[in-house]
Amino acid sequence: MATPDTPYRVHWMTGQFCERGREWLYRRTIRSRVRIESRLALSVSATIFAMFAISDYNYLGPTRAFYLLIAMRTLAVGSCLLLAFAIGRWGGYTRNVWLHALPLWVMATGIILIIPLRPETLATQLVAVVVAIMAFYLLIPNLLTVVAAASLYLSIGFLTTAALAAELDAVATLRLALLLIMANLVGFFALLRVESLQRKQFAPLHQERDHTRRLLREVAHRQSLEAQLRGLAERDALTGLANRRHFMMRAQALLQDARDGQAPFTLCMLDVDHFKTINDTWGHSHGDRVLTAIAHACQQSLRPQDVIGRFGGEEFVVALPDTRLDEARAIAERLRSKIATLTLEGATHEPPLTITIGISAAHAEETDLDALIRRADQALYVGKRTGRNRVELSHEEVAED
Ligand code: GH3
Ligand code: MG
Ligand code: MG
Repeated sequence: MATPDTPYRVHWMTGQFCERGREWLYRRTIRSRVRIESRLALSVSATIFAMFAISDYNYLGPTRAFYLLIAMRTLAVGSCLLLAFAIGRWGGYTRNVWLHALPLWVMATGIILIIPLRPETLATQLVAVVVAIMAFYLLIPNLLTVVAAASLYLSIGFLTTAALAAELDAVATLRLALLLIMANLVGFFALLRVESLQRKQFAPLHQERDHTRRLLREVAHRQSLEAQLRGLAERDALTGLANRRHFMMRAQALLQDARDGQAPFTLCMLDVDHFKTINDTWGHSHGDRVLTAIAHACQQSLRPQDVIGRFGGEEFVVALPDTRLDEARAIAERLRSKIATLTLEGATHEPPLTITIGISAAHAEETDLDALIRRADQALYVGKRTGRNRVELSHEEVAED
């Protein structure tokens, strides 16, 4: 199968791509246009063919030959209109090429059959044949071989019938033959030129389009890789929470916003109690599951605008924008109770899993996140010393309260 990058070749006799795959692709691209064009060409030809009935009447009057001609014309016009309808419904240019070719044979047969019925108007019919040959070549694009075959059928059929019905002598027959050969040659080479020109325009355009498509796919792929990398750089691998560096960045921005808007800002440090014992009793991988479950519980209990980070081993940190100290204490208590009731598959914690939380609140002009973290950490330390499983406020904040 030819890919868009394979160099293309156009056949010198058919004007089509030598590579079957590319030719198929080209036909697919033009199929809807060809369908419309074929239907239009058929309908117009059928109308013109029908209108010649007037000239039949002029020449023949209400004779048997006239009625025969009318019957023949009705048949040809009916077939053409039927085919125009069929092409509209099923005329996929890639597969049902024969549907597009069939009307040519119907029209050609119709034109040939007129001669024996109106042999004296041979000159007019010759003009009609030449016009039909030209119309075949010019109005039915992309079917050069099929059109050439139908035109030859029309030419030979017309010549033979004319020679017999109008009793032409050898010289007149030769003159007629030369004229028809000329018409066929002109039509053939005109269509050949159009066919190969169209394909020569299509090939680079298609290559260009394909390159753009591939480029867009590549860009999308890189964007998704970039997002994955960013995720890896910002997230803690075990819990999926923001890692320490990313937390610091986001919390610092939130703190700055809070200062700008003169809104309250609090910070909680969480530490799992006796985590070393959990690891020692249930194994390190169970310890990992405990950390993941705590991270999940934090995410579920807190608001989307709060930032949760894994600060180190079994320590977590939470930034609470727009939250006063008393609100932060209530949030921390809720979290502490929630974690105390956490159940993990395959383990019953005895004593129960608990956390200690230290809280600090930003002063009016404070923008130093490290100082806030230090104060929350000190409060956490006090909590640990005074029995664990509790929420402790930084003593500075308590004094201010
Ligand atoms: P305390 O109540 O005073 O906080 O005691 P603790 O045992 O929780 O604290 P300590 O600092 O003595 O122990 C923390 C333990 O956490 C030690 C370390 O092996 C463990 N740890 C750190 N990171 C991880 C981790 O990613 N997974 C697991 N399973 N354990 C970890
Ligand atoms: Mg610790
Ligand atoms: Mg601990």
